[in-house]
Parts: sequence; structure tokens; C-alpha cells
Amino acid sequence: MDLNNNRLFQTKNYIDGQWCESAGKLAVTDPATGALLAEIADGGAEDAERAVAAAHAAFPAWSGKTAAERAAVLKRWYRLIADNREDLARLLTLEQGKPLAEALGEIDYGASYIEWYAEECRRAYGQTIPTHNPAMRLHTIRQPVGVVTCITPWNFPNAMITRKAAPALAAGCTVVIKPAAETPLSALALCALAEEAGLPAGTLNVVAGSDSAAIGRVLTQDARVAKFTFTGSTQVGKLLMAQCAGTVKKMSMELGGNAPFIVFDDADIDVAVTACMATKMRNAGQTCVSTNRIYVHESVHDEFVDKLRAQMQALRPGHGLEQGTTLGPLIFRRAVDRVHGMVEEAVANGARLLLGGDFLPNGENYYAPTLLTEVRDDMRIAREEIFGPLAVVLKFREEGDVIRRANDTPFGLAAYVMSENIRRANRVVEALEYGMVACNAGVFSTTVAPFGGIKESGIGREGGVEGMAEFYETKYCCYGI
Ligand code: NAP
Repeated sequence: MDLNNNRLFQTKNYIDGQWCESAGKLAVTDPATGALLAEIADGGAEDAERAVAAAHAAFPAWSGKTAAERAAVLKRWYRLIADNREDLARLLTLEQGKPLAEALGEIDYGASYIEWYAEECRRAYGQTIPTHNPAMRLHTIRQPVGVVTCITPWNFPNAMITRKAAPALAAGCTVVIKPAAETPLSALALCALAEEAGLPAGTLNVVAGSDSAAIGRVLTQDARVAKFTFTGSTQVGKLLMAQCAGTVKKMSMELGGNAPFIVFDDADIDVAVTACMATKMRNAGQTCVSTNRIYVHESVHDEFVDKLRAQMQALRPGHGLEQGTTLGPLIFRRAVDRVHGMVEEAVANGARLLLGGDFLPNGENYYAPTLLTEVRDDMRIAREEIFGPLAVVLKFREEGDVIRRANDTPFGLAAYVMSENIRRANRVVEALEYGMVACNAGVFSTTVAPFGGIKESGIGREGGVEGMAEFYETKYCCYGI
């Protein structure tokens, strides 16, 4: 691997401060070419158990440090990530496929959680409560929950880890992470830098492996684990929630979405198209907040579609490391076939194909930017999360009707509203049943704001003060005097 800092290329799991080999090997490949990038230690349930034991043993010392002491280690980690951002981005593009500029953006975004929570942990104040009884004094203190286990997906192999690990570590928790089998190299590179930053052995552990169900059972069922946090599909999230029930763990779930993107007749169409491109085509459409259903008012439909098609046509598919690439591959062939199947089904049911609709010659995991109009709400393409470079346009006439249609889904992660009318914008933002709503913007996720969904899109928040609260227990202390 061609990196400036070869220490970032790690092929063993990181448990209790040691790089640990396994009998089996897990192949990591470049989704753009299929080339083998690495064969890493294929961790399993036993490794996960050792990691949980290590995190449990490390907890008293780490949680016993002052917030300032923990912050100092985290800030060193943050600076090392910033110093190695080019290498980390390169590694990320190679194993995940996104264009290098997007990978650099993810590294900076991921690192920002570490910096911000290093600062925030110094403000974990409790309260003094006005007493109900003159002979008693009432306080609350905030204490770290304990051992935290995390399972993360392949679409953001760096940031989905830091978004969980940074607030957990800052709060005084110790952490075990299982990254997706497709993208373990970014996770292991983060461990190498955490080690260099001086994070004590056992505080942060990574167990990658092909048997995610076996590792997952340990992370969700071990009684020493106080909290489990997951980012991934709703289907797997439900299974893991059930597994956590046996030991009544605290849980955070960042799950799938089905984001509506509503373009009103009073929208600035150029702003709307730019926002739509950003939410729809970033990471080849493989983000949980990717627009799924684009509702356009009938009076501006043709103008919006023409402009969107022009921008989609201008995308440059290619290897993420090639200069000028703006569209990478999907993560694996299964994903490409799924998207293609949805397109074929929609066209067979009356949707109109305006662009794409086919595989690309760049490699077996590439799919053409695809634009469909005349889509109906009952089509699978409008009901399921797409996760590909496929834009799906539906028409509407009335505000009330589009709100009802936008909310008619079990998902509730992100929604988008395009309108220059402040009254309407406020009305619609409030009426949408989603955890996050962006108005006249396509990219909204930031360290300082709470990210998360409602309904079947999740439980809990990541980012901001809410993201930190997930890793504390509030203890009520009552003193008789
Ligand atoms: P996924 O299949 O649910 O996988 C996510 C993680 O769960 C991976 O680490 C996977 O490991 C692991 N996993 C799968 N089956 C498991 C099991 N039975 N037990 C334990 N772990 C298991 O999701 P994905 O397709 O990789 O990721 C895309 C999904 O994530 C989308 O639905 C997207 O919307 C969602 N997402 C949500 C957010 C958010 O913040 N709400 C952010 C990003 C992504 P292996 O890959 O090793 O099997």
C-alpha cells in the first residue's frame, strides 16, 4: 500500500493495546477494481470476548481520569488524524470507493467529533436541585455508562466510528468496535493513531471479522457491556435491539431512511438542484440521508428535471483516486444488481427513464447516474431505501398532499424542503415527521448538531450535546442533613 505513514496500514485486530492475529484471514478489496488490498486477521466471538474483557478492565482507570486528562489524549488523537489526513483518505477511498475529495471531507468531519467532544467533556455538569424538604439536599452527577460496544457500516468507515467513539471516550467510557467487513482498514488505522496518542490499552478495541453475527452476539449480549450503539440497516438494527433486551442495555440506533426532497413552486430551482445533487449523488447515493423521493410541484417539474439531468450527466465516473472523478463505484455487485432491479421494475410499472438505467464499463460495481420520472408512491423504488445513484421524481400539486405523502413511510431520518417562502418553510419543516429537516440545503450534518432519526430510523442522537448525553448516566444523589 502506497502511504506516507506505513503504520496506518494495519492487518491485525487491536485488542487490549495489542495487535492480534487470527487463524483465518479476511480479504479486503478495492470496490472499483476488485483488486486485493489486504488480508487481515479474521476476528471472531473469542476476540470479541477478549475485547469486552479488556474494555471492562480498563474502565476504572479511564473513567477515573479527570475530564482534562481525557481531553488531552483525545486532542493528541485529533491532531494525529489531521496530520495523516491524506493517507487516511487514500485508505478510505481504496477500501470504500468514494472520490478522494469526499474521503478527505469524511476524515475532517470524522476528526471534528474527536476535537469537539474533547472540549465538551469538560462541561459535564450536574445540578443542584431546589429541595422539597429543608432537611435534605438534592444533587445530580453525571457518570460514564461503562463499556460501550459499537457496530458500524461501510459507507462512512471513518466518521461512523469517531461519531460514537469520541463522545464515549470523552465521557469516560471504554469502547469495542466492530467495523463492517468491507472496510476494516480505516478502523485499524484509527487505532494506530489512538495508540500513538497515548490512549491506554483496553480503552479502544477493534474486532473486525467476517462472522458479524457471532461478534455481534457478544457485543449485544455480554453482561459487562452497558451500552450498545449501532449504525446500519433497520433490518439488522431490529435484530440487534432484540439481542440487547436480555441484559436491558442502553441502546442507540442510527438506521435506514427514505428521505423526501420537496421542491415547491416558490423554490429557487438552481438552489434546489444543487442541494439535490449533493444529497443524492454524494458517495454514489450510499448515505443514510440520501434523498429517496424527489417531490416536485407540477408547475416547476420540467425545469427542475431538465436542470437535474444536466448536472447528473456531467458526473464523471471513475476510480476515486483519479483526478476529476465525481462518482465512484457502489460497494459490491449485490448493491448494483439491487438498484438495477428496482429501475427495471419501476420502468415496467410505468416510470419514465430519462437518463442512465444501466451498468457502466468502468468496472462491475459501477452504475450509471439514473433519472426516473412519472414515479408513483406505491412503487418499490419510492418505498424502499435506494442506496445508489438513482434519482426518482414524483409530481405534486397541494402542500397538504405532499406532506401526507412524504410522511407515509415507516422511516423518519432526514427530509428536505426547498422553498423561498418563510411561512411555508416553517409550516412544512414542522409538519414533517423526521429527526432532521434541511431547508434550502443538501448537506447539513455537523459535529455540533444532533443527528438521528425517529420511527424505524432510529433511537438516540449523535453529535452535539445530545450525542454526549448518550454516554452518561445521571445519578440522583439525596443527602439528609
Ligand atoms: P448493515 O447490513 O445493517 O450492516 C451494518 C453493520 O452491521 C456492519 O458492520 C455489518 O457487518 C453488521 N451486521 C450485519 N448483520 C449483522 C448481524 N446479524 N449481527 C451483527 N452485526 C451485523 O447495513 P449496511 O448495508 O452495511 O449499511 C447501510 C445501512 O446503514 C443503510 O440502511 C443506511 O441508511 C444505514 N446508515 C444509517 C446511518 C444513520 O446515521 N442513521 C448512517 C449510515 C448508514 P458486516 O458488513 O461485516 O456483515
